[in-house]
Amino acid sequence: MEDARQQTDVAIIGAGPVGLFAVFECGMLEMRCHLFDALEAPGGQCSALYPEKPIFDIPGHPRIDAGELVDRLVDQAAPFAPVYHLGDAVARLDADPAGFIVETAAGLAVAARAVIIAAGAGAFGPNRPPLAGIESFEGRSVFYLVRRREDFRGRRIVIAGGGDSAVDWALSLAEVARHVIIVHRRAKFRAAPQSVARLERLREAGRIELAIPYQLQALEGEAGRLTAVIVATLDGQTRRLEADCLLPFFGLAANLGPLARWDLALDQNRIAIDPATAATSRPGIFAIGDIAAYPGKLKLILSGFAEAAIAAHAIHPLVHPGRALHFEYSTTKGVPGR
Ligand SMILES: Cc1cc2nc3c(=O)[nH]c(=O)nc-3n(C[C@H](O)[C@H](O)[C@H](O)COP(=O)(O)OP(=O)(O)OC[C@H]3O[C@@H](n4cnc5c(N)ncnc54)[C@H](O)[C@@H]3O)c2cc1C
Repeated sequence: MEDARQQTDVAIIGAGPVGLFAVFECGMLEMRCHLFDALEAPGGQCSALYPEKPIFDIPGHPRIDAGELVDRLVDQAAPFAPVYHLGDAVARLDADPAGFIVETAAGLAVAARAVIIAAGAGAFGPNRPPLAGIESFEGRSVFYLVRRREDFRGRRIVIAGGGDSAVDWALSLAEVARHVIIVHRRAKFRAAPQSVARLERLREAGRIELAIPYQLQALEGEAGRLTAVIVATLDGQTRRLEADCLLPFFGLAANLGPLARWDLALDQNRIAIDPATAATSRPGIFAIGDIAAYPGKLKLILSGFAEAAIAAHAIHPLVHPGRALHFEYSTTKGVPGR
């Protein structure tokens, strides 16, 4: 029987900024890629967590919004015609005589000569507050990330948490919202000092209210539409905060998910690699970006980009055995169609 399974040179698990750039680097070395992501859109943390925030440390871009960076990376990868498999997590990775079989939760299987894991924080999801019935409000009145600030114009917003996300979004949303309240269990915020100072100024000006020291206790509303958030102190005093939206920012639960079962050497919940090649402990499997661990690793997009180039060069002999690899600049080689 003919094998109808899709085949590629390199399977890239994770379509965050680093996985996207790996398509370009592999493409420059004539290696085709399939790209997998559990999320519905490419871009990883940049798209899912902070698309409208400016990034200031991408070389050559003094300032670029995270969403725009992703659009440009997708464009940069496009000449190499990557095949995207989005909205479907990779669940299995099995060895095969010709390399590996990557299989998604929905049952799609792709054969690849080599695998690059660019899975960021792993299969991540928000830390949900344990509130009865919160699922019925999620996506309508309860949001774990802000995709478009405009969606919150004129709304009464309760933000819960005391870290950077809670403080930064309170500052940003105060410019468009009808009312913003931050619920935090202690007086001290774990955010950048200049952001905390701005928060204090907006509080004094009456633009942001602080509900401290309170914790979320219950939600009121019907059919997914929130009307109020009930908060309580540790000794049981409650307050009812009228609200249209709740944004809980309690961080992400970093969960390696299926990756933890792939027999890869780990280093504190990340994948240990040799920084000279990005190789993991399993031959043919490479890891780059936030998921990769080695001494001195910086969890920065620019480090991930360099690791993508290193991995592509290390993979070349596996995909093109016997073919000499001549190191070339993009200025010498050019890019198809560009
Ligand atoms: C608020 C904030 C601000 C930041 N600011 C900066 C900054 O200014 N400069 C900077 O350099 N960095 C910044 N970062 C960090 C930067 O976003 C990360 O370093 C970068 O996103 C890492 O890219 P990545 O491609 O390795 O992983 P990610 O962006 O995390 O993408 C990994 C992708 O893999 C997918 N995935 C995981 N497991 C699976 C699976 N089993 N199957 C399918 N898909 C899977 C995930 O869904 C995800 O889309 C910031 C991060 C945050 C949260």
